[in-house]
Amino acid sequence: MPGFELFGDLERKELQDVLDNGVLMRYGFDGMRNGHWKAKELESALSKTFQTNHVQLVSSGTAAVTVALASAGVGAGDEVIMPTFTFVASFEAIMALGAIPVLVDIDDTLALSPKAVEAAITPKTKAIMVVQMCGSMGDMDALQVISKKHDLLLIEDACQAIGGTYNGKPLGSIADLGCFSFDFVKTITCGEGGAVITNNKDYYLNADHYSDHGHDHVGNDRGAETHPFLGYNFRISELHAAVGLAQVQRLPEFIAIQRKYLKIFQETLSQIPELTHRKVPEGGEESGAFFNFFLPDLETSRKVIQGFKDGGIDVCWNYYDNNWHYIRKWEHLKELKSLFPISQEVKEGLKYLETKTYDESDHYIGRNISCLIKLSWTEEDVKARANKMVEIIKKSI
Ligand SMILES: *Cc1c(COP(=O)(O)O)cnc(C)c1O
Repeated sequence: MPGFELFGDLERKELQDVLDNGVLMRYGFDGMRNGHWKAKELESALSKTFQTNHVQLVSSGTAAVTVALASAGVGAGDEVIMPTFTFVASFEAIMALGAIPVLVDIDDTLALSPKAVEAAITPKTKAIMVVQMCGSMGDMDALQVISKKHDLLLIEDACQAIGGTYNGKPLGSIADLGCFSFDFVKTITCGEGGAVITNNKDYYLNADHYSDHGHDHVGNDRGAETHPFLGYNFRISELHAAVGLAQVQRLPEFIAIQRKYLKIFQETLSQIPELTHRKVPEGGEESGAFFNFFLPDLETSRKVIQGFKDGGIDVCWNYYDNNWHYIRKWEHLKELKSLFPISQEVKEGLKYLETKTYDESDHYIGRNISCLIKLSWTEEDVKARANKMVEIIKKSI
């Protein structure tokens, strides 16, 4: 991560095709296109990459989660179980539909704790949203068992784990619906973009229509199309899709680099006995987008992060003190700071956040250090960096 580091001729060529014919929109204008359908081509490339029948491109990862939930009928008053450690997009999407985010603990996979999920199920629960954080994954077997047992939808946010696998299946393809982001810092990027993937044809058709104002996309006269239901605009442009089309062809190259570097970090830092690794469920293979490890306690993590800063080791974070990915700093959610009125049902549904504590999540996030793995580094850079990290950690323990 991120794919923008290796931009090259392929991205330029795909983009130039779009500029040459001048059709920046993914639908219509058949006569002007000279056969260029970048969004459609990217959808079929992603369908192969993620081994899933249907792919709907959208304008962002946040849009992907919103469209996935809407396509499966999640809406007003429904409860959606999600983790305390994720990107803010998870609750933004849930709340955009008038549904209620129910935040539960994570475990040592840094994803949803199956036990915490099961304890949070109520008659109002409609879906479980697992977020595959930092290049790895939650215990998908356990989560699938729970979702089947309680007849709940399982949604998989794989925005940060593009290219990871579980029992040989691409992350994102395991649940009922999978979501991806191709924003500027993701493993493959469109600048801005996202995708919903599913093997369920009804969900797919819903996503296709909903993300384009409810258009049914039948025939080739956009003005004459019917609208079976209300929609919105979450479309991707041809310009963005063109960049993604180049990037997806390079995904195997990106994943190979990430995994090679991840291994160097894991092996080099294993010489520190106090350091433990993030748990990867059996059958899982990380994408290598991040290197994650645990230190004995929060105090040590803070010391190490300061040591990294002073020693020139960038792109490493302890999310306990970082305001973007962990519930501790989501004051705007806890205090419901909204520009517009929020429904009484959602207000009441979120009251639990005023008092609820997340000891299990604090225990893991407080001790976790998460380091981005950059595609532009050389193997020598990575080795030098790993050795420097060992030196700093040893001094802080
Ligand atoms: C990046 C990200 C998103 C949102 O993607 P955008 O394209 O930036 O809207 C959602 N979930 C996770 C886990 C992410 O990392």
